[in-house]
Amino acid sequence: MDRSIPADLNVSAKQIHINGVVQGVGFRPFLFVLAKKHHLTGEVSNTEDGVCLCIQGQADHLNHFIEDIIPHKPLLSQIVEIKTKNIPARDFNSFKIIKSRPLENGSGKKRATLISPDVAVCTDCRSELANPLDRRFEYPFINCTNCGPRYTIIKDIPYDRPKTSMKTFKMCTACQKEYDDPLDRRFHAQPNACPECGPHIWLTDHTGLTVEEEPKSVLESAAHYLGQGKIIGIKGLGGFHLACDAADPDAVKRLRRQKNRPHKPFALMAVNTKALLNHVNIKEDEKEVLESYHSPIVLLEKKQKTDHLPPGQTIAPQVAPLNNYLGCMLPSTPLHHLILEKGPDILVMTSGNRSGEPLSIENEDALDAFSHIADFFLLHNRDIFFGADDSVVRIMDQKTSFIRRSRGYAPLPVYLSKKTAPVLACGGGLKSTICLTRGKHAFLSPHIGDLDNAKVFEYYKKNIDHLKRILDIDPQIIAHDMHPGYMSSQYAKAYHPDQKKYKTVAVQHHHAHAVSCMAENHLDKTDEPVLAITLDGTGYGTDGHIWGGEILAASSRSFTRKAHLSYLPMPGGDAAVLQPWRMAVSVLFQAFGEDLIDLDLPFLEQLEKEKISFICQMMEKGLNSPLTSSTGRLFDALAALLDICTIISYESQAAMELEAVAGDMQGQVYDYHILNPEQIQDNPYEGLGTTAVRETKNSNDKELPYEIDLLPAFGQIVQDMGMGVSKGRISASFHDTLVHAFCAAALQISRDTRITTIVLSGGVFHNKRILTHMTHSLESKGLKVYTHSSVPAGDGGISLGQAVIAAALEES
Ligand code: ZN
Ligand code: ZN
Ligand code: FE
Repeated sequence: MDRSIPADLNVSAKQIHINGVVQGVGFRPFLFVLAKKHHLTGEVSNTEDGVCLCIQGQADHLNHFIEDIIPHKPLLSQIVEIKTKNIPARDFNSFKIIKSRPLENGSGKKRATLISPDVAVCTDCRSELANPLDRRFEYPFINCTNCGPRYTIIKDIPYDRPKTSMKTFKMCTACQKEYDDPLDRRFHAQPNACPECGPHIWLTDHTGLTVEEEPKSVLESAAHYLGQGKIIGIKGLGGFHLACDAADPDAVKRLRRQKNRPHKPFALMAVNTKALLNHVNIKEDEKEVLESYHSPIVLLEKKQKTDHLPPGQTIAPQVAPLNNYLGCMLPSTPLHHLILEKGPDILVMTSGNRSGEPLSIENEDALDAFSHIADFFLLHNRDIFFGADDSVVRIMDQKTSFIRRSRGYAPLPVYLSKKTAPVLACGGGLKSTICLTRGKHAFLSPHIGDLDNAKVFEYYKKNIDHLKRILDIDPQIIAHDMHPGYMSSQYAKAYHPDQKKYKTVAVQHHHAHAVSCMAENHLDKTDEPVLAITLDGTGYGTDGHIWGGEILAASSRSFTRKAHLSYLPMPGGDAAVLQPWRMAVSVLFQAFGEDLIDLDLPFLEQLEKEKISFICQMMEKGLNSPLTSSTGRLFDALAALLDICTIISYESQAAMELEAVAGDMQGQVYDYHILNPEQIQDNPYEGLGTTAVRETKNSNDKELPYEIDLLPAFGQIVQDMGMGVSKGRISASFHDTLVHAFCAAALQISRDTRITTIVLSGGVFHNKRILTHMTHSLESKGLKVYTHSSVPAGDGGISLGQAVIAAALEES
């Protein structure tokens, strides 16, 4: 036992507490080496919320040691805070890594370590993988403290091997030696393994019958079959993918047909960045994200001309029809590297799930789900405890925007501006995530999916339980969307583990969007309201209508609706979401009345006249025609009007195809009206948009919102179509009109309220043209604009807003 020794004038001693992502990332060995370098003695151990050192030596050595921590920290670590205090020196004669101190039961203290996401294979491991003399040559599960699986193999914390799916593999002597050696790259690398002692791969036919077992033949056969146009179900890190050669149109077509996915773009995985250069333009910032250890899918702009490429080397057009971008990623696991090095340079890698269901993570389930799609299965025996879909990002305006934040990022926290009560925020209905808060951290789950599917809902509940456990959070407040029909709202209301009573808070959808953007930009530090332009497809409004084209004045406690798109009926309700032609009929009916039938428009020719009359009557009588101020539905209307997309096969299809057809084309601004509240009194929908039941505080009920009416634009669009103006130009003009109208309204509101800070949120801001044009236009008028870069602008981000709102209301 080290004793306190009498103070030596030359020896200083400090206790240093570091928290953040500092466990399972090689942090203690790093400190060990650093302490040796600076001739210091002492000890380091993991604690419940990070690492703690007692360290001593000459004062200037000690200072240099502290200065070196941040600039030289291990790649995967994230330091949130370093706290130091002077302590009496002890008689250490070396620097030691000592055993983690487990939390004592009943100590009342919460475990607060951060869990690392899964990390793409590092360069050291890659060179070993390629070295025939290395004992892990071509071993598909090579990893070290700087890379490999984390989140997807963890069952519980502390993050130690027995609590991961590596539990069943006993390390061989050589692996154990690395694991125990503080100077080894594999010191305490929990998934450490080798061909002797670790997991292995095998290849089966579509019925599950093993066809290859010898590792080298498995890889070579899989690569060979891919080159032959076969489809293979590959078990990866966070779940299954279905893979085929991206340059083989027949294989891609077959995959589309069998997967029943006619249009939604497929993601690609390329052997390296260079292999992509013939097909897409890659800017420096895009390259950086593509090659980062997060290894997400990055949306990259397709090259216009690829006809110089030899046949068989162009990406099949069926990969992403009607889209100017390709979703590309690099291999994130050693297995993917090996397959791509031996097989085609670029593979389609689409998620292996039954339509609308969570990703398959088990061999049996995958065989059951895709035996009709895949010709072969490449399987392994390292279990995936929790699935993680590939993350999807797009670089817009020099910022990384998440379309889906999942593998490689979750469950890293979003850093909040202040400490909050523990909240569980249940998310929305589509593209759901959940959020748990602890102190200044907000943890968003990986992408979960659309909760109307029963299996996704089961997976959702499991995710909540799992994250509560591994993050050690017992939420006291449950936040949910105001929509009473959402499964997430129903889950929140029924939440009662341990029969305790929980406070629930219903949060308006667009308020949650606004505050999610405020929270990640730390605009919620004060109670000052900001303006928020929130544009999306669907969100339940406080007046019972469907909102989605809104300008709010919002703080983390309350909001006032300042403007919205004019209400339009959605004939057939949900059917109108799936069938954009219904929204086109709705828009034309508002603009032209029953005369719309006589318009010379291609999409109308495909519809029976009786059907159109019937739809018009439905709207007139208000039968099954809920009102909406959604921006998404306006995009739908235009897509159908231009005959680009009259029925969708995936969410946001119409808007994505309109963005693609507009490209970089110059647009003009069509007419629109901004109606002030007095004018609204004459509006046919008077009383519907203006009698909002405001449930939050601070709103002035006498103050009515402006209405942004784009119907005049649609009148001009019909004229333009008659004059043969191209679809691309019309779409570009519509985008620009939308931007213009919202900027004009926002400026008017800014003058009315003297608020000059504005946030942009909602799924429409995944659209590059709208995000960049709106940001620049508002900035040029002197407004301070904030956008998303930590969580998705779409519904994958609203759980963050819900959590912050619920915590703020609790505080007040
Ligand atoms: Zn590594
Ligand atoms: Zn081994
Ligand atoms: Fe939304």
